[in-house]
Order: sequence, then C-alpha cells, then structure tokens
Amino acid sequence: MARVALVTGGSRGIGASISKALQAAGYTVAANYAGNDDAAAAFTAETGIKTYKWSVADYDACAAGIAQVEADLGPVDVLINNAGITRDAPFHKMTREQWTQVMDTNLSGVFNMTHPIWPGMRERKFGRIITISSINGQKGQFAQANYSAAKAGDIGFTKALAQEGARNGITVNAICPGYIATEMVMAVPEKVRESIIGQIPVGRLGEPEEIARCVVFLASDDAGFVTGSTITANGGQYFI
Ligand code: NDP
Repeated sequence: MARVALVTGGSRGIGASISKALQAAGYTVAANYAGNDDAAAAFTAETGIKTYKWSVADYDACAAGIAQVEADLGPVDVLINNAGITRDAPFHKMTREQWTQVMDTNLSGVFNMTHPIWPGMRERKFGRIITISSINGQKGQFAQANYSAAKAGDIGFTKALAQEGARNGITVNAICPGYIATEMVMAVPEKVRESIIGQIPVGRLGEPEEIARCVVFLASDDAGFVTGSTITANGGQYFI
C-alpha cells in the first residue's frame, strides 16, 4: 500500500510542489490549506490530489482534519509542516497581533499538526516529520523578529523531537530554504527582490521544486539515518 503524506499549505507555492513531487514518488497525498478555495480547487483539478481546509493555528481543527484525512486515506506516514505566513514590520512598529499570528501559524501550527499524528507513528514504528523552516530562522532578518523567532523555534522543535522519535523509526528533520520564487517572495517590492537576488551567490531565486526534491529524499527509506538535521537550500547565501 502506498504511504500517506499530508502536506500543510499543500495547494500553493512550495507546498504545491511538495505535494506533486510526493505524488510522483508514489505517495497518496493529502493537501491542507487555510482559505484560498480557488487555488485549492484548481490544484485538485490539475493533480487529482484531495485538499482539506483548516487552519494549522487551531489545535482542535488540526485534530479533526487529521482524523478526516486518516478516515479517507489511511494513517499519515509522512507529515510536511509547510504552512507559513509573514507579517513583517520593524520591531518598534510590530503589533502584538502580528507577533501572535506568525507564532500561532509558523510555530504552534507545527505542534498542532505533529502532536495528534505522533502517537500513531510511534505505534506503527514508522514516521517522517519534515518542517519547512527558513534561512531567516537561521540568520535573522530585519523586520522579521516574529518570523525569525518562529522559524528558529521550528529548528529547536525538530532537534528535540528527533531524539524522542529515534527509537520508534520516526525521523524528524527541517529544511531551511533561502529565497524561493513563490507568491510570498514575488509580493516583495521589485527593488527589494533585486537586492535579495544580488546577495545570492548562484544569482537567482530558488525554484519550489528544488525544495520539494529535498522533501522527497527526507521522506524516503534511504534517509532513515538522517534525523534531527536541517537541510540548508539557499543558493550558497548562508552556511550553517
Ligand atoms: P505561500 O504564501 O505561497 O503559500 C502558503 C501556503 O500556506 C498556502 O497554501 C496557504 O493556504 C497555507 N497557509 C497559510 N496559513 C495557513 C494556516 N493557518 N493553516 C493552513 N494553511 C495555511 O508560501 P510559500 O510557498 O512561499 O512558503 C511555504 C513555506 O516555506 C512557509 O512555511 C514559508 O515560511 C517557507 N519559506 C518560504 C520561502 C520563500 O522564499 N518562499 C523561504 C523560506 C521559507 P491558502 O492557499 O489557503 O492561503
């Protein structure tokens, strides 16, 4: 039987590429999303991948959504914590709401999704948890105290949980993309984007598929000895 992979934020951007790459690698894929029904419908029409709407920021909604996915497709073997948002502002202008929204989605969302799935993975003695962190969680970024803190938190979460999963066949890893050509980055003013590209040694933005290929590797049986690690994929911009 094909393994089941659940991708949060899996119908747009990097998540859509991850969903497609996992499908191509033979997984049965479920793609969660937050609210963009048109994008989700277009994605399902294109790929045949079932989409499920809930917010990763809501624990109860995650538990119910996961239960629905498992009823439809079977136990989740591979969880990709990809959903993420930005609410950028220099710290002196950052509101509590901007802080809380980013922490709730980008950090607590990872807890909310992993926690209900974890007991089943422990019982079945197999699991893959892969969280999409960010270069800005490694190095910090101006006007992203909220985002950088949450993404750094994802790396700490990954390292701690890897130790707990190791004896039960569960690997837990993070990927830190640099700047990838998705709507999130294309929304940045063109001048800022050009200056970002100027700082990337390979001289271009990354493609979502380049992150998806890292995910497929980490999800595979070949990656069974890779756990608690962070794959850095940023065009040579920052090394850690
Ligand atoms: P996009 O903005 O293109 O897509 C974000 C996806 O996350 C959408 O599918 C969106 O759903 C979903 N989402 C947002 N909030 C929630 C929520 N509360 N519950 C469920 N789903 C949610 O982002 P990217 O593809 O660019 O980014 C994907 C991940 O990669 C993020 O975690 C981001 O931080 C990280 N990243 C991105 C980089 C980049 O350069 N693009 C660089 C480094 C990291 P909907 O479609 O319904 O809106």
